[in-house]
Amino acid sequence: MVEVLKYDIVIIGSGLAGLRAALQAAWTSGGRASIAILSKVQAMRSHSVSAEGGMSAVLYPKETNDSLELHAYDTIKGSDFLADQDAVELMVEMAPKEVRFFERIGVPWSRLPDGRMAQRPFGGMTIPRTTFAADKTGFFIMSTLYQNVLRFDNVHIYHEHFTTKFIVENGEFKGVTAIDLKTGEFKLFLAKAGIIATGGAGRLYRFTTTAHSTTGEVLAYAMRAGAAIKDMEFVQWHPTAMVPTGILITEGARGEGGYLINKEGERFMKRYAPSRMELAPRDIVSRAILTEIAQGRGWVHEESGMGYVGLDLRHLGEQVLNEKLPMIRELAYRYAGIDPLSEIIPVRPAVHYTMGGVHTDIMGRVLMADGTWIKGLWAAGEAASVSVHGANRLGSNSLTECAVWGRLTGEQAAKYVLENPAPITEGSVLEVAKREESRVFDKLLHKEVNAVSVYQVKRELQDIMEEHFGPFREGSKMSEGISKLTKLLDKVKSMRVEDTGRIYNQNLKDALEVEGMVELALVVGMGAYARTESRGAHYRLDYPKRDDENWLKHTLAYLYGGEIQLTYTPVRITKWKPEERKY
Ligand SMILES: Cc1cc2nc3c(=O)[nH]c(=O)nc-3n(C[C@H](O)[C@H](O)[C@H](O)COP(=O)(O)OP(=O)(O)OC[C@H]3O[C@@H](n4cnc5c(N)ncnc54)[C@H](O)[C@@H]3O)c2cc1C
Repeated sequence: MVEVLKYDIVIIGSGLAGLRAALQAAWTSGGRASIAILSKVQAMRSHSVSAEGGMSAVLYPKETNDSLELHAYDTIKGSDFLADQDAVELMVEMAPKEVRFFERIGVPWSRLPDGRMAQRPFGGMTIPRTTFAADKTGFFIMSTLYQNVLRFDNVHIYHEHFTTKFIVENGEFKGVTAIDLKTGEFKLFLAKAGIIATGGAGRLYRFTTTAHSTTGEVLAYAMRAGAAIKDMEFVQWHPTAMVPTGILITEGARGEGGYLINKEGERFMKRYAPSRMELAPRDIVSRAILTEIAQGRGWVHEESGMGYVGLDLRHLGEQVLNEKLPMIRELAYRYAGIDPLSEIIPVRPAVHYTMGGVHTDIMGRVLMADGTWIKGLWAAGEAASVSVHGANRLGSNSLTECAVWGRLTGEQAAKYVLENPAPITEGSVLEVAKREESRVFDKLLHKEVNAVSVYQVKRELQDIMEEHFGPFREGSKMSEGISKLTKLLDKVKSMRVEDTGRIYNQNLKDALEVEGMVELALVVGMGAYARTESRGAHYRLDYPKRDDENWLKHTLAYLYGGEIQLTYTPVRITKWKPEERKY
């Protein structure tokens, strides 16, 4: 039986973007709007909690010689000129307000001796403008937001509720269906407005810094509901993931002065980005590390066989490590048995961020491929592609994006529901929800005994993505990868869920994730194969140059007759003409 719940606004995702949206919607509506927040994990276990290094914003332009213009330029250059420049301008303008807003509601930002908020350098940023709370920035922002959200009686948090479907009728958002994982109950959340804040899709790959919950299936669900997905071929590899676990060593470590060295003890970045060195953008540093390893100048990790280079923090000294990078010291010790004060940390690039996401306009409204707004639906944070990161995100711009578009979408959703006071009616939506319940429980749970397991499909998916759509891509390899993914999609249809119970059925949840992941992987693959140029994180050995004449445009994927189609939409340029990216 489907339980029906009615809310003004339903927010899917309780990471930084989702909680920021909820808080803003509650405030804007004066506490009048009823708001449901759904999270497939305990809300505070959302991936944002593990953000380490900080949040970018121009806070003290006079003292630091910084400006909004410079922040925008760094971001656009970092994006390899694929970012929409009006969106970037909006982000940098709102960023300082968001950092100060967080300060007012209780985030304990690290300080300078004179009391100002401290800022550290980050890759691709010409001025230190990454505001941080030691190396636990995400944890502190999330805890603060969470406590503030709890103050509103009208905001209800549904922990461990897995969204399975978006319901859109006649171009208008009507609600979502979700499984209450604890009880197995199936619920319909009817709502006037929805905000997608479900994070990225790092787990399409095996070696990743992202949480196990960062699977991205909701992007595929949004596509099924008519939304377009933008620029998914741009996958970010973070240069410094610890070997062999993939645990992130924040860019803040290089921001505080850490070096990258090869086995000859050379700071090799001088050959790849002589002016920015270790603080060049991530795509450049990642390719440099992989080139060093491929050319035999890295070390090899004995147990895993992984090649790596060294992150050297020894010269920073105990005080800097303990005050500014305490978690990094602890992580290195716990997971690699290394004290960074006296030993180098073994690192190599790992998948870290999804530049693409749900296609939105500058205000975060979710769009179809023809540019029509799905009325009542917004997206924010890593799940959305507004697009401020283009082909390569600069570190510390993501928390800023989450905060800015969390706020903007929450504000708009609140106004929208206040302007539409009519009561919510079920109409035909309940029937749609009942069909979804039977799809989820009847179809997925009842499969022949010898069908393929969910985890085998997931393993194959990650193998394909690592092998065919890695940081160095090539046409024939990708075409092979697309054929493999297409075959995998057939396997998904006959995947077997071994646990046939309803209560806490993680196996069923995993099946629903994998189903969406394979669809999404095809979007990544098709977009990458079609884009015959190299730009930002998308690097093709067979097309090593950027090609503005043909490819200064965003990829849009959408479903037509059940098949993924690609189309393109222009990049919005305001002031900054594309130029060669040199560091
Ligand atoms: C280790 C690490 C460190 C980072 N450090 C920084 C940093 O210092 N600065 C910076 O700018 N960026 C950083 N990033 C990137 C940044 O942390 C993320 O981009 C950002 O936190 C994403 O926030 P979000 O709110 O969009 O999504 P998330 O925090 O990922 O939250 C997603 C939410 O969606 C929910 N969800 C997903 N699918 C479903 C579903 N089917 N049903 C119901 N709920 C669902 C999840 O339960 C969760 O609540 C880092 C990334 C990593 C991997």
